[in-house]
Amino acid sequence: MTSSEAFARDTQIVHLGRDPQANHGIVNPPVYHASTFIFNSVAQLLETRRDRASGAFEQFTYGREGTPTTRALEDAVTQLEGGYRAVVTSCGLGAICASLTAFLSAGDHLLIIDSLYGPVRQFCDEYLKRFGVEVSYYDPLIGADIAHLVQPNTRVIYLESPCSLTFEMTDVPAITRVARARGITTIMDNTWATPLCFQPLAHGADVSIHAATKYISGHSDLMLGIAVCNEAAFIPVKKTASASGYCGGPDDIYMALRGLRTLSLRLQRHQETATTIARWLQRRPEVSRVMYPALPDDPGHAIWRRDFNGASGLFGAVLKPCSEQQFAAMLDHMDLFLMGYSWGGFESLVVPTYPATLRSARPWQEKGPALRLHAGLEDPDDLIRDLERGFARLAAAA
Ligand SMILES: *Cc1c(COP(=O)(O)O)cnc(C)c1O
Repeated sequence: MTSSEAFARDTQIVHLGRDPQANHGIVNPPVYHASTFIFNSVAQLLETRRDRASGAFEQFTYGREGTPTTRALEDAVTQLEGGYRAVVTSCGLGAICASLTAFLSAGDHLLIIDSLYGPVRQFCDEYLKRFGVEVSYYDPLIGADIAHLVQPNTRVIYLESPCSLTFEMTDVPAITRVARARGITTIMDNTWATPLCFQPLAHGADVSIHAATKYISGHSDLMLGIAVCNEAAFIPVKKTASASGYCGGPDDIYMALRGLRTLSLRLQRHQETATTIARWLQRRPEVSRVMYPALPDDPGHAIWRRDFNGASGLFGAVLKPCSEQQFAAMLDHMDLFLMGYSWGGFESLVVPTYPATLRSARPWQEKGPALRLHAGLEDPDDLIRDLERGFARLAAAA
């Protein structure tokens, strides 16, 4: 799409990454299934080698490095986030691992947010440390004071906001300002907000990561990641993803592009329903705390309002202390909030969470059991009645 800057994001997501006139007038881009690209001549083959070596990656050489289908999704998300170029990977965790290893070497120091997506903590503690990277965790509420944790060998600061499981809001611009002034690369996990509700690069980050598995694809049926990069970050991330073998499958990429078209509409409903349910939960005697930055009394609300254009449908709650049997009685028999990992699909989900096991810089103090809820596209009253029946089972199991 040309002159896309002139259009609102809602218009852009309908049109980005497709060109009907280049494809017999067909609305959606074709799915290219390809490992091999045939070269016409040695000269052409050598040209693709020069293209790779220069870091341009403009030409297609081999399926692992992407096809025109891959490029369509990369271009669409890049333009939504105001990036330079993006790299699609096999899953969100792949985009994170490729981005971290793109910039870190033995002897470097990584500053990583304490309340991050759990598997990234495992990658840092079990693998990056083994390869000689020094890893320290910072309090998500640290803001500009992160300057005190920076060491001469700090190479990367990693952010996520709102945080996984506990939904603290991080002051992204305060942290990226510190990083920029010292030449430190910043990588942010932007999965919760999607490209529609927050733009990390406009707030000073170098790489913005999405688990497209979640809202971008939106239908709980595929795994895919994407790292949107500014110009300086693109070559290192692309080269590392390619060298490490991270690539997305063509059908999954096509489905993610299809999901992207309805992202704005879906998110509005997810946010509306999540807000309704979160407010309802706040009034329940069984609940000690709801964690959702879109609520006016949430501790992160001021930052959310300042920096974000909206919220998604994922939030947390802490119950008043109860027995394990009571908690299980509630969660084991839900009709609509089925129990499962992941989120961002059309359906509601719930999982018990255990933040205490995943925190070191800011210990988790709550005594009661914690939950993560995903408000799906069902009727909100049906969802509330499902939770109401859950609380009745919890009380009956006392
Ligand atoms: C799910 C998730 C990921 C990982 O994405 P996968 O596609 O499951 O590998 C990364 N970050 C956040 C915040 C997530 O929720």
